[in-house]
Amino acid sequence: MPSSSISTAPASLELRGLTKAYVRGGTPALNGVSHSFAPGKVTVVLGPSGSGKSTVLGAISGLVPPDTGGVWLDGRDITELAPEKRGFGMVFQNYALFPHLSVVENVEFGLRVRGLGREERRTQALEMLHLTRIPHLAGRRVHEISGGEQQRVAVARALAVRPTVLLMDEPLSALDARLRDDLRAELARLLRELALTTVYVTHDQAEAMSLGHELLVMQRGRIEQAGRAEDLYLRPASPFVAGFIGAANVFAGVERLSDGTVRLPFANLPAESDVPPGPCWAMLRPESFELVRDSGRADFTAVPEAIFFLGAQVRAQLRIGEQPLTAEFPAGTPLEPGRPLALRVRPGGLYVRAAENGA
Ligand code: ADP
Repeated sequence: MPSSSISTAPASLELRGLTKAYVRGGTPALNGVSHSFAPGKVTVVLGPSGSGKSTVLGAISGLVPPDTGGVWLDGRDITELAPEKRGFGMVFQNYALFPHLSVVENVEFGLRVRGLGREERRTQALEMLHLTRIPHLAGRRVHEISGGEQQRVAVARALAVRPTVLLMDEPLSALDARLRDDLRAELARLLRELALTTVYVTHDQAEAMSLGHELLVMQRGRIEQAGRAEDLYLRPASPFVAGFIGAANVFAGVERLSDGTVRLPFANLPAESDVPPGPCWAMLRPESFELVRDSGRADFTAVPEAIFFLGAQVRAQLRIGEQPLTAEFPAGTPLEPGRPLALRVRPGGLYVRAAENGA
């Protein structure tokens, strides 16, 4: 595979205590961001709009100088280094291709800037077009190819300069859903093959979970939690992360009782957890419920208000008195709006954390 020639040892990239306020004295866009990125892996920066994702990427690229803190590459402080001297590749949402150049000329562009000879440029550019599976488009103009193909050109161009770090800012968000899914799978393959240290910004959690070796969930200029998708899903550190990664029923400001149960607004439920009695927050994922025939074994009774067919599952919007609840059951489960269901929480289904973790 030509990919082996792209990188040598994967780069180690580290952020140390970054802060940034665009407006002096205003709300900080970054408020103490530190992280060591896994070398050779894809780290996805995820969070709602305005949480600081692009600013983190800007600080790494050098386009947004931080107010305090530093960016370190392979043990060297590069905070003051000009963006073009960092040797990073960048792919943005708007492909930013040169419309007057052909596909292969676009990919060659960065190599020309670096002073490579004509033949060498062409060979390397074609190699990148093979890697992104569009060698047949080399001679086309940018306006003669589709959005998805343009994004492949942008990726090929970013890789052509043999970057030490690859930065991607919402690279798929301008594409329609079908194309986005296809390209996401392609990107996952390519990034795995390349083993480049990659920082990938998105607000799309499906994208984050399928591409990221590690996910950084940001909120208000801070990393709220960093970890593998599965850890964030199963063990969120705060109600915010619980609600942001996957669907969740989150109960803030509830109480763990001395008998080991948790007092939720609609029932006291047992929880396997070492959280001591006192204030806590709790989470029930939609898949944590099961129907019981014998209502004596039920934890509570709920009434479906709306039912959505999702394929392998059925999602029900339930109500227990005033309390709304989202639950998912295997397809074929007999559910009818208005007909009460006797439900139990599966063993281990109720997740509890002490209140100081953000509740
Ligand atoms: P995200 O990428 O998560 O949407 P950003 O990093 O773009 O978040 O923005 C973080 C915060 O900084 C937001 O409050 C945003 O309004 C502000 N911000 C971003 N860029 C600028 C800028 N050039 N000037 C002033 N404020 C900015």
